[in-house]
Amino acid sequence: MSEECTHDCSSCHENCDHRPPEKASTNADTHIKHVIGIVSGKGGVGKSTVTGLLAMLCNKIGKKVGILDADITGPSIPRLFGVHGILKASENEIYPCVSKSGIEMVSSNLMLDNETDPVLWRGPILASLVKQFWTDVKWGDLDYLYVDMPPGTGDVGLTVYQSVKLDGIIIVTSPQDLVSMIVSKAVKMAQMMDIPILGVIENYSYVLCPDCGKAIDLFGSSATSKVCDDYKLKLLARMPIDPALVKLCDEGRIDEAAAPFMHDALDAVLAL
Ligand code: ADP
Repeated sequence: MSEECTHDCSSCHENCDHRPPEKASTNADTHIKHVIGIVSGKGGVGKSTVTGLLAMLCNKIGKKVGILDADITGPSIPRLFGVHGILKASENEIYPCVSKSGIEMVSSNLMLDNETDPVLWRGPILASLVKQFWTDVKWGDLDYLYVDMPPGTGDVGLTVYQSVKLDGIIIVTSPQDLVSMIVSKAVKMAQMMDIPILGVIENYSYVLCPDCGKAIDLFGSSATSKVCDDYKLKLLARMPIDPALVKLCDEGRIDEAAAPFMHDALDAVLAL
């Protein structure tokens, strides 16, 4: 590190250890206004569901939206939107598939002859595919690109942080994980990569009684607020466990979800 390093690389041209690697450029015909990563400390907490909900809410208010499914070994974005088929590509470009509602998407699941086949590729191939999804896809003009990140703090996630020009990330967590080290690691990874954290979405927070509509807090809410306070993070949403949402997701109809609990999260994205 340079002896005079001020940690502000924008005003300095020295190539010291503090300077982050150059981010990769997108396809020449692609112009994306905002890129938001959806992150979780581990799988199964609802990261893809949140990605799908935010994308469809943005799309519903007339924004042009794309989703880069960087969860290469656990891809679920096309299924949520009922998109099937194979990505088309020319020598230098990949063309995204488009949902009925007009959301563009790329995913490893749109590269398999059989959607139920596992992705058995080694780490370097996963990382280079995710990078190609950023550099080679002809997204065209997008207001928002959501990146459904791989869970955890592994190699592919690191590639996304280093290659993709993320404007901010949203961390999705379950109430139990919020108080464990899993979320701390995700927070620290984003901080080390100099990516702003827009806030946290807590999933599986409560259930609504089907008879009286009362919200039953399954894990209590005090821990959530405390952890968010400790890390100075905004709690953007508390999502209920919702069998109707699962049904819509399983049937490829996430576009029809209401998701009233998502409005603060949407506002945080629109405020970028
Ligand atoms: P991740 O991307 O973190 O692995 P997913 O979004 O794929 O997680 O969700 C895992 C499973 O949990 C899916 O079957 C999804 O439909 C279900 N799920 C996610 N959020 C909820 C919720 N709020 N209520 C009920 N089921 C949910």
